[in-house]
Amino acid sequence: MEKKTCIAMVPCPGLSHLIPLLEFAKRLIQLDHNNNKFHVTFLIPTLGPPSSSMISFLNDLPPNIDFNILPQVNIEDVPHNLHPATKMRLVVKLSLPFLHEAVSSLMSSHTHHLVALVLSMFSVDAIDVAKQFNLLSHVFFASGAVFLSFCLSMPKLDKSVFTDLTKTVNVPGCVVPFQVKELPDPVLYEKSSETFISFDGLCERLSFVDGVMVNSFKDLEGETIRAIEEENGNSLCIYPVGPIIQTESTNKENQWECIEWLNNQPPKSVLYISFGSGGTLSQEQLNELAFGLELSGHRFLWVVRAPSNTPSSAYLAGQKEDPLNFLPCGFLERTKGHGLVVPSWAPQIEVLGHGSTGGFLSHCGWSSTLESVVHGVPMIAWPLFAEQRMNAVTLTQVLKLAVRPKIDDESGIIKREEIAKVIKRIMEGDEGLEIRTRIKELSDAAGVALSEHGSSHRALSSVFMKWQNI
Ligand code: UDP
Repeated sequence: MEKKTCIAMVPCPGLSHLIPLLEFAKRLIQLDHNNNKFHVTFLIPTLGPPSSSMISFLNDLPPNIDFNILPQVNIEDVPHNLHPATKMRLVVKLSLPFLHEAVSSLMSSHTHHLVALVLSMFSVDAIDVAKQFNLLSHVFFASGAVFLSFCLSMPKLDKSVFTDLTKTVNVPGCVVPFQVKELPDPVLYEKSSETFISFDGLCERLSFVDGVMVNSFKDLEGETIRAIEEENGNSLCIYPVGPIIQTESTNKENQWECIEWLNNQPPKSVLYISFGSGGTLSQEQLNELAFGLELSGHRFLWVVRAPSNTPSSAYLAGQKEDPLNFLPCGFLERTKGHGLVVPSWAPQIEVLGHGSTGGFLSHCGWSSTLESVVHGVPMIAWPLFAEQRMNAVTLTQVLKLAVRPKIDDESGIIKREEIAKVIKRIMEGDEGLEIRTRIKELSDAAGVALSEHGSSHRALSSVFMKWQNI
């Protein structure tokens, strides 16, 4: 019997990393045209027991995609106060023996021919296992080309520049230089810190894989993609395969309430506000956002999370408190007619695709950014952590798809008057209209890139063929 070509995907911990990889897997399976000759297995490193949303998500996988949750790593080996990026990398490193065993068992399969490991950025250490079994290793880079370009240029950068927040750094293929304070937060840590060393090491390892599939497309980041190819062309294949986003939300929490409410709002009248799967604001900033929304007078749908002074605190952990308890006194009553507040989660894809949604106040996570582009929704860029500030710079200064509120120098937060001002800029008048026109053009271009003869489809097919021909 002819064996099926098989690739194993190794996500780093956390549902928000698993989801883009799964969407990527679905695209690959589609290229098989029901020939049943291609298979994807997820080998999933874990820190704690899988959450109920992860279980329901995994139990719903399409044919020819299956999964194996690797044994949990010893929780005592993972200090709880680590930076999320360092923590993800450490969990993957500690899982390598389990991964080795799982790959070994796949290698001896009589029905599957394992040819490659596909990793996410924070699971790039699994490259060691790929090499041990003489397998190809590819990374599915769930963020954009600008961040990829920065990561690939890290080994060559003079690291002393990071200690001066007023300096700027040129990233290959980016027309604007980035102020040091806009760079991903791990590089702002002491050079001798675990956070910095771990991120630096990760960037270095990225160039050792056989290829990187970046979740972007030529009309969105063509210059940067070209520059990455020029800088790394001989050693690393780059495949711009995006935009790969969910077609429907996997977590249906609050779906009925949100859609029902949006159905009763005028076209393009609602500002959707979300800080991704785990972004949080301080109590002071949460209050200011609430008052800014009131001041703007615009309709809004706000996904509220309980406040924290660490913006990524809810990222790899759930929240127990009711977020609505932290809103200013009387806010819910005062905004009842024109605002909807939901705790912790909304079905974002369905919200962005709804005709009543006219703007998106976003933390600029890359999946949210692509989802907004695909659905043609202008953005307010409110980055919090990770590479989100770089995404915000690209969205506002290069692509001009978003406006960005100014942080008040004295208090370090964004004040209500500024919030009301940017909401008006995006929801009313010429600037909002111009952004809407530009984003609509990119939304159309995204459709073309993914269509049969489009650039992203061709890039995806070429890596698919490479695996098929081994
Ligand atoms: N998401 C959602 N509802 C929410 C918050 C997030 O459906 O209330 C989804 C969103 O559509 C996106 C993902 O979670 O697909 C967030 O990914 P992103 O890269 O934007 O941010 P991260 O969560 O990694 O910070």
